[in-house]
Amino acid sequence: MVIGAGVAGLYQLHRMREMGMSVRAYEAGSGVGGTWYWNRYPGCRFDSQAEIYQYWFSEELYKSWQPSERFPAQPETEKWMNYVADNLDLKKDIQFNTRIKSAHYNENTDRWLVTTDDGEKIDTQFLIACCGMLSAPLVNRFPGQSSFKGEIHHTGLWPKEGVDLKGKKVAVIGTGATGIQVIQTIAPDVGSMKIFVRTPEYVIPMKNPKYTKEIWAEWGDKFHDLKKRVKETFAGFDYDFEAPPWNDLNKEERTEILEKHWNDGSLSLWLATFPEIFFEEDASQEVSEFVRKKMRARLNNDPKLCDLLIPKDYGFGTHRVPLENKYLEVYLQDNVEAVNCREAGIEEIVPDGIKTTDGKIHEVDVIILAVGFDAGSGALSRIDIRGRKGQSLKEQWQNEIKTAMGLQVHGYPNLFTTGAPLAPSAALCNMTTCLQHQVDWISGCIDYAIKHGKQVIEASQEFEDDWVRHHDEVANKTLVVKTDSWYMGSNVDGKPRRLLSYIGGVGNYHKKCDELAKNGYPGFLMS
Ligand code: NAP
Repeated sequence: MVIGAGVAGLYQLHRMREMGMSVRAYEAGSGVGGTWYWNRYPGCRFDSQAEIYQYWFSEELYKSWQPSERFPAQPETEKWMNYVADNLDLKKDIQFNTRIKSAHYNENTDRWLVTTDDGEKIDTQFLIACCGMLSAPLVNRFPGQSSFKGEIHHTGLWPKEGVDLKGKKVAVIGTGATGIQVIQTIAPDVGSMKIFVRTPEYVIPMKNPKYTKEIWAEWGDKFHDLKKRVKETFAGFDYDFEAPPWNDLNKEERTEILEKHWNDGSLSLWLATFPEIFFEEDASQEVSEFVRKKMRARLNNDPKLCDLLIPKDYGFGTHRVPLENKYLEVYLQDNVEAVNCREAGIEEIVPDGIKTTDGKIHEVDVIILAVGFDAGSGALSRIDIRGRKGQSLKEQWQNEIKTAMGLQVHGYPNLFTTGAPLAPSAALCNMTTCLQHQVDWISGCIDYAIKHGKQVIEASQEFEDDWVRHHDEVANKTLVVKTDSWYMGSNVDGKPRRLLSYIGGVGNYHKKCDELAKNGYPGFLMS
């Protein structure tokens, strides 16, 4: 059984079918797409280039799809996922509109009993959770939300029919990657907009050229190279850290490299210049200042706006860096007000709008909650998952979030996970690269067990502990762990602090996984 019909779930279903398994996928939405099904907010698009935000198992599929631009928007990506599902005839094996409520492991039968919201019970030997990394939206963020007279929407649950914002008084809460896309997209249409800013982001202007048939054919010619390349790089992109060591260059030489990547209009400034920005305070400061300078100029050096919208207390790249399109310029519009949540935070939602701690009521017609997700662990914690001895995964993760390479959790035999904590993921990986790799590894592991007459696969405690130790050792060398954001779980009250994504590099992670497979999956006990 597969949970989810997003990027990972679709591929996992395909792989299991190819292996001749009896398999069915269950999806809460009414269609395929996962992230691309739920996040239909204005401006939603990915920041990985179309040529690498791809499935790699079929050259024909790759070549037969024509992306319209370098960074296509949500509607196109949702269409692409439907194209993939239809091409492989996957939908007949997906039960839509079905949310999984619980999954309990039976130690007598070595099987999982899974229950849906509608009370349907499914008995399965292998349970593969492809529930997404950023799929548990923080919906009830503020007291009083239900009292609001107007419309209130979380970006991750955006209505299919859209929301009419034309001429309306709109509030946007949150300025992460999502809020930024929403703000820049709705700015020309709204009557007025109040943007509630607490923590600003370093931003890079996106360059998004159209992709013609000729351009796509050129990418198609590189299919095999790209397929190989994305598995080897630090973040699963086609680019990788390429600059000479930081200290071998003078400031002018470094700036020249930064300028070149800035002009690429992609995430390469972050993921393909100097790895030192993740480790060394000096490098971090210099690159941060490079970006700040660009941002100040766009804000006309307005001291109040610069103070509010340019990060000062954390380094470039220790949060997810968003690409944007004229986002900062929105704040220069006469009908836009930036509300400084650092001076007066949001106290509650009231019938007419948003009340801040200075007693002010900001009256609006529509509130957009771009306040993020319970990342990594949230999707699984929201299901009542119980492993050996009735142990609850949710309770366990309330104390400490641990996994065996993000692929299994000790004590939960035959439960496999993709997009789970402690594997490379959205924070530091092009998601299609990581998810496909995890699906391939899981499929290989199950195939191996079956071929060796084994019924049960479970990561050992020792293997899991070793992985957590290694994960932390790598993470603790970086500046990322010193910064608050969803990367560290600090956006959710009470969530135990740990870097959710493995930061040792996608290439290294792949090597480690491949090594395990080659050696018969040591650390994953089979019986
Ligand atoms: P996020 O990065 O967690 O941002 C949430 C925002 O809401 C932050 O600015 C946060 O401020 C603010 N917020 C939360 N509670 C608040 C409160 N009580 N008062 C004021 N502000 C509050 O979530 P996200 O923007 O949805 O992005 C999550 C991830 O999804 C991204 O990092 C990225 O990996 C992925 N994503 C990708 C794309 C893309 O590919 N282009 C687009 C969208 C999302 P604080 O930081 O101060 O808490």
